[in-house]
Amino acid sequence: MATVFISPSRYIQGAGELKNLGKYAANFGKKALCLISPGGYKRQGDEIERSFVGTDAEVVFDYFNGECSMTEIHRLSAKVKDVSCDLVIGVGGGKIFDTAKAVAHDMKLPVIICPTIASTDAPCSALSVIYTDEGVFQEYLFLPSNPQLVLMDTDVIAKSPVRLTVAGMGDAMATYFEARACYQSGATTCAGGKVGVAALGIAKLCYDTLISEGVKAKMAVEAGARTAAVEKVIEANTLLSGIGFESGGLAGAHAIHNGLTVLEECHHMQHGEKVNFGTLTQLVLENVPEEELQELLEWMVAVGLPVTFEELGITDTSRDHLMPAAVAACAKNETIYNMPCEITPEIVYNAMLAADAYGKSVREAL
Ligand SMILES: [Zn+2]
Repeated sequence: MATVFISPSRYIQGAGELKNLGKYAANFGKKALCLISPGGYKRQGDEIERSFVGTDAEVVFDYFNGECSMTEIHRLSAKVKDVSCDLVIGVGGGKIFDTAKAVAHDMKLPVIICPTIASTDAPCSALSVIYTDEGVFQEYLFLPSNPQLVLMDTDVIAKSPVRLTVAGMGDAMATYFEARACYQSGATTCAGGKVGVAALGIAKLCYDTLISEGVKAKMAVEAGARTAAVEKVIEANTLLSGIGFESGGLAGAHAIHNGLTVLEECHHMQHGEKVNFGTLTQLVLENVPEEELQELLEWMVAVGLPVTFEELGITDTSRDHLMPAAVAACAKNETIYNMPCEITPEIVYNAMLAADAYGKSVREAL
């Protein structure tokens, strides 16, 4: 099988970059439909409108209805047609990006993704997660191309809630371990091929960046400061993790995240927070050396990521309660089968118990 590497065509990150959105958009179209939340419009609408002044392009806004569903995608595709747009822009968070990408694909138009948070690796990918109108997971929509441009204004992200950036670090930290597992097992990645050394190298760089800059970045964002460490972590969370997961593949961490979603009490947790516990569980499955586990756990605790059931909101730790999560993590077609080791619900359940125990011991010792 071939090695496949995919990425957005252009990634631009810098302080105050939002004010250049119009200029960049004019390279791709004459009239952009900008999908944004009402709150996002209040915060960034003026600046986005100003950014189009003096360019050859214009922008019309539409408010996102809150769910990346087929109903919403069709509504926006009709709007694109009605007002004759030739470009789609998504400003905000994950579901807005996924909707903008799906609408652009539907109408065969270019798409620009402009995140205002760094909580997941969704912006760069050629993937939309589709939900029902009620918000239940429906399907993955694999798109033929990645966004034409991902634009990150680090001033905006440095002012976003610290918990979201930390959750983004949790999502990003899984990248290297999952890519490494896929490389070892020869698995097929989300990009549709085998893991090459480029994707594996980017995933490792993502890990190294988070280990060296993560704690500093967390403290800076808490103080509302945009520093070099914050810039590096934003790049790790968005670009390195985005490319790393798509061309490097997913394995245990994300499958265990998906398993945890069957537990009602975890619903309030961020994606990256649940993925973090998934990473810890994956390392138990791999039986990595104690030093590797210890180093990573200390980092997780220092940046404020959950490492125990309790921190995920799980108080009932009985076998009856946890087993359905392990079973869901081992569903047919799950990425957990990309792991280079034997996988059964029983093995995963035991690994979750051990992950919680290691997490507790490190948290108590620090
Ligand atoms: Zn993720």
